[in-house]
Amino acid sequence: MHPLIEKALTNHHLEKNELVELLYNDNTNQELFAAADETRRQYVGDGVHLRGLIEFSNFCRNNCCYCGLRRDNKNIERYRIDEDTIFMLAEHAARNLGLKTVVLQSGEDMYFDREKLCSVIRRIKTLGVALTLSIGEKSLEDYQAYKKAGADRFLLRIETTDKQLYLDNDPGMSFENRVECIKNLGRAGLEIGTGVLVGLPGQTIDSYADDILFFKEVNADMIGIGPFIPHPDTPLKDAAGGTLDMALKVMALTRLLLPDINIPATTAMETLTPNGQAKALKAGANVIMPNITLTQYRRHYELYPGKSTTGYTPDESLKAVKDKISALGRFVAEGPGFHEKKNFLP
Ligand code: SAM
Ligand code: SF4
Repeated sequence: MHPLIEKALTNHHLEKNELVELLYNDNTNQELFAAADETRRQYVGDGVHLRGLIEFSNFCRNNCCYCGLRRDNKNIERYRIDEDTIFMLAEHAARNLGLKTVVLQSGEDMYFDREKLCSVIRRIKTLGVALTLSIGEKSLEDYQAYKKAGADRFLLRIETTDKQLYLDNDPGMSFENRVECIKNLGRAGLEIGTGVLVGLPGQTIDSYADDILFFKEVNADMIGIGPFIPHPDTPLKDAAGGTLDMALKVMALTRLLLPDINIPATTAMETLTPNGQAKALKAGANVIMPNITLTQYRRHYELYPGKSTTGYTPDESLKAVKDKISALGRFVAEGPGFHEKKNFLP
């Protein structure tokens, strides 16, 4: 075994230059994925947690250069799902599909103010499920109010820790504020979910190493890593996009350094390569987020083209995911799947 992979397996720590060395080296990918798989099995087991994803609004005030929901994209039909329908979808997920976590995701849509969101959160929490939000940058007071209303977790990717690259791709946004928002999630008592894109034009291996060290620094509970897939109605339409292998490598190293956290096999991985999620589940991932949004809305929530779940109904999405899990000899985990901190060397 490569000595650095062996070091990561035993110590769960690597220096930046060591991360860079492994990220550059393509001869040890299979060893790296196997080590991440072993760490996943040892720390979080063979169960795969399912989080039912509801994409409840595609309105967004931001203009991220990589995203199809950016406000300057006039080629998408904007929609908002009303509170009763969001609740109905969550109820179906909890009562009929047996899901233990619901994720509410949207663009940064100011229509859903603190009061409206807290009302939805309170209603969904009567179903006895864990609730994750992924709705962008808010104030500490907002995050505290969501927590008080019953929210458990929040996903806010840093996207990239390369500050200049972040500023180039997220016009009008502040890198410092993004970091502060991520830290505020923890201050508000929410589980911290963050993550990065892999394959933005100009993104470097050096910066992926910084990304992984950042995940440790903010004490993340969940990390989502997605290959960047260019969208034709964005300024990055002609970019090459990310590769599955590099996304898997960043993910596998994240598992080795943060062995007990939750890591999804992302939809973007599956979109890029048909068996991308299965590969991710064998390289450190332990979570899948089946899409339970009504089919009529899904095609309008196009962050990138060809999203693998677009044509499915909620029940079909879940079945596809369960089939994938059992084909790997794994099983759907019981319980809400909170981050259980285990003892490991720093
Ligand atoms: N608006 C919220 C936010 O930005 O945090 C939540 C929704 S946003 C659509 C969720 C994630 O989608 C982003 O964090 C970003 O990493 C990812 N995303 C956006 N455009 C993408 C693309 N072209 N390829 C892959 N992932 C993309
Ligand atoms: Fe809006 Fe999120 Fe897309 Fe950026 S990534 S444009 S904040 S939906």
